[in-house]
Formats: sequence, C-alpha cells, structure tokens
Amino acid sequence: MSPFQHGEVYVTDDGTETDLDLGHYERFTAVSSGRSDNVTAGRIYQEVISTERRGGYLGRTVQVIPHVTDAIKDFILAGVSEVDFLLVEIGGTVGDIEGLPFFEAIRQLGNDLGRERVAFVHLTLVPYIETAGELKTKPTQHSVKELRSIGIQADVLLCRASMPIPDDERRKIGLFCNVRPERVIPALDLPTIYEAPLRYHEQGFDTQVLSVFGINDAPDPDLSRWRAVVERVKNPEGDVRIAVVGKYMQVKDSYKSLSEALTHGGLANNVRVRMEWIDSEIFERDDAAVYLEGVNGILVPGGFGERGTEGKICAVRFARERHVPFFGICYGLHMAVIEVARDLAGLEGAGSTEISTPRHPVIALMTEWTKGNAVETRPEGGDLGGTMRLGAYPAVLTPGSRVAEVYGTTTISERHRHRYEVNVGYTRQLGEHGLVVSGWSPDGRLPEIMEIPDHPWFIGVQFHPELKSRPLAPHPLFASFIAAAVHQSRLV
Ligand code: GLN
Repeated sequence: MSPFQHGEVYVTDDGTETDLDLGHYERFTAVSSGRSDNVTAGRIYQEVISTERRGGYLGRTVQVIPHVTDAIKDFILAGVSEVDFLLVEIGGTVGDIEGLPFFEAIRQLGNDLGRERVAFVHLTLVPYIETAGELKTKPTQHSVKELRSIGIQADVLLCRASMPIPDDERRKIGLFCNVRPERVIPALDLPTIYEAPLRYHEQGFDTQVLSVFGINDAPDPDLSRWRAVVERVKNPEGDVRIAVVGKYMQVKDSYKSLSEALTHGGLANNVRVRMEWIDSEIFERDDAAVYLEGVNGILVPGGFGERGTEGKICAVRFARERHVPFFGICYGLHMAVIEVARDLAGLEGAGSTEISTPRHPVIALMTEWTKGNAVETRPEGGDLGGTMRLGAYPAVLTPGSRVAEVYGTTTISERHRHRYEVNVGYTRQLGEHGLVVSGWSPDGRLPEIMEIPDHPWFIGVQFHPELKSRPLAPHPLFASFIAAAVHQSRLV
C-alpha cells in the first residue's frame, strides 16, 4: 500500500496492516480492531483458491456465487456471537467491479438472517453546484437505483453534503429512492469530525437505524463526553504550533492517525494544535531555523527510504540545540539516534543500514527476533512485503524516566511497523552522551524508547503511539508532548 495512494497504513494490535478507515472506527468506538475486521478481495480470492486446492469443493466448479460470496459471509459472521450489533462497511462505489461479490454477499445476508435483522445504510453524495447555487439529488438517486439493480434496497440514506439539505429536497430524495423522508439523513461537512455523533443524533440517524430493527424504545444516548470534546475543539484556551517534518506531506491522509493524535494532545491541554507540515528536503537546501523558529514543538514521524533523511536530521538538531520539544516516532527515533551519534557521540559517518552502508550502523536490521514462541527470521535481501515487525509488543520502562512518568506505569504495549532497530551495540555510548534508553523490550534486547533527560522534552519511540490515541482518551505521550509545547510557547 502506497501512502501516496491509500493514505496511512493503519496497524492493529494483532499486526494487521489495514486501511485508515479502521483507525476512525477505533477512535469512535474505542474497540480495538484486528485481522478479523478487515478483508480485501485479494484475501477472499486467495482463500477460495486454497480451499479449492485442498479439495475443499470436492472438484466442483468454483464460482463467484456461491463460493466467493460464502467466503465473504463466513468472514463477516466469524467470531461475532458476543455482539449485539455488527457493523459492516463496504468501501468503494456501487458498481465497482471489485465490489460486486461483496454487495451480493450482504444482499444474501439480508435473506439468511431475515430482513428484520439487517439494516442497509447507503452513503451517497449530494453535491452543491456553486455556479447554479443548487444541491443536486441526481447522483444520490442514481446510486440508489444502481444498488437496487443488484438487489439491495437501502433502508436509510446518509447524504454527504456541503450545504444543509432543505426539507423538500429530503422529501424528494425519499420519494425517488423509495426511502421514508425521515430516513434520509443529511451528513453535512463539519468543522470537526468529532461533531458527527452529535449531528447524526440531531438528524435522527440513530433512532431511524434502530427503528429498522424494530427497536422503538431505546433510551436516549449519553453524548455528554462527545459534547465536551467538541466544546474543547471549538473553544480552546490557546494554541501551539507543531512542525511535522516528514516526507509524504502532499497527502495529509498519510499521517491521519498522527494528526488526530496531535489534536487529542491539544484536547488534553485545552489548546488548538496548529500543524505545520514541512517536507524535510527543504532543510537540505535552506536553513532549518527559517522554518522552525517560532514553532513550539517538532515532530519527526515514521517514514521509509533515503529521500529527505538528512533534512530530518537537521530538524532533530534544531530541536535538540534550541531546547524545542521533540517527538520522534519510529523513523523519527532513528533520525534522532543518528543525529546524536554524529553530533554528540563523535561517531562520524553514523547512519542506518536502511539508507546506506554506514561506518557506524547505529540503526540496523535485526535479523532475528522472537514473538511468543515463533522465531521469525529476516534475512537481508529477503522479501520486503510482510517482513516487518508488526502489531502490539510490550515494553518495560525505566523507573524514574520521563516516559515512566508520562505513562504513569512501567509496563506498556504499543503497536509497531518497522524493519530496522536501534543497534544495541551503540546504546551505552549514546547514553554517555545524553540520549538514554528508557524503554526496552521485556527481554532487554531491543531499545523501544530513548530520551534526553537533560532537555525540556526529547523523546523518540520505536512504535506508533498515534495508532492508539482516541479523542475520549488522548495518548499520554501526545498529551505530554503538547503540554511541553504549551510550556515552550509561554517562554518565547
Ligand atoms: N523505515 C523504518 C523501518 O523500516 C521506519 C519505519 C517507520 O517509520 N514506520 O524500520
């Protein structure tokens, strides 16, 4: 998955690399997702083919209906005996060739489970034509019709619009789409996504979905915590400027969880976080100070490949020397280690084996490690796909370190997605020059967190804390980083 095409790769606790939508679901529902929560057409076809190879279909002709659709339905229904409601989202657009077997599978589910146990919610577009000053309902009508032609009648319509949809338009959509007007729910653009639960409730979305299931006596939802979040987003007490120095800056979605987590850090401190997305390559030509003077915190996020790395190292140096709060995430930690190795520890030519063949490989490939009982080997020059350290791993924090204080505990679990690690052969030397390891893998073999105790806030982590931050529970590292930025903003 290329960040340029798909946006961020979201990683779950169990190490599944998924689409960024699952991140939104986690942030809204606070339920941790996993391998059983996301499936691609590729995985379904692979499964059907291997079942066939095993003789699972006893030599019968393998077809989209029923074999592919059965595989999709089995996937949907696997392991859900404990839940009251199951939410299934089909991505893409009605009519996509890739999507057809998925639509057919949920159509069948409507029959299998009984229509009273299934609600079809269809998300459509109601574009506003600027020059005509008009909302157009045709795309919605068309897509509902398309959906009907494959056998699915939408029960509820969620209509994305940038302008309020007047009541008579709502009625018109209902009429043409064979949906009751009260089940045509406007989904307006909002200043903050966290306002969506409040606005949907106002428009009756929850009530209407429940009524499809025949539930008409549900108690009113308690939305007070969401109200508090929205109130804080809209009326902060101040703001801080955070420079995010990375590579995929044209596509903001490639750092979706990161920008959300920074916003959550702001919520925890009642400030608005102004993010300045800076392409690190700039620092390879221009003086970093021109761009970084005046920011209250610098964050170097995850990344891959050589391009822009020297620029990121410049950003680290600026933060370290100017005492600006610094947060390095994954590749950002690697850059911090290289910077300190070169500048403080006198390790000339220090670098990462991901980028070059450095004289001092302070960041290098772990060729072997264990997860549970399974030993995984990562031979150099092996496959790149599926060779990363992925998913949740525990770490043990040094008592008395800043991170132990930030987390309020010494045992944590965080999600990883990387191949390279801080080389333990250099940690003693780095520590002597101020950058100490304050979080280790439980076996003491992998540095997971490094910090400069003698700096207002300088922390680098090997994992991706942004993946676990939620608006109702901001991640402690982001809350603390923004607190440090607030403090810094009062100094200047
Ligand atoms: N490219 C680095 C690695 O593979 C860092 C990955 C990341 O930042 N997620 O180890």
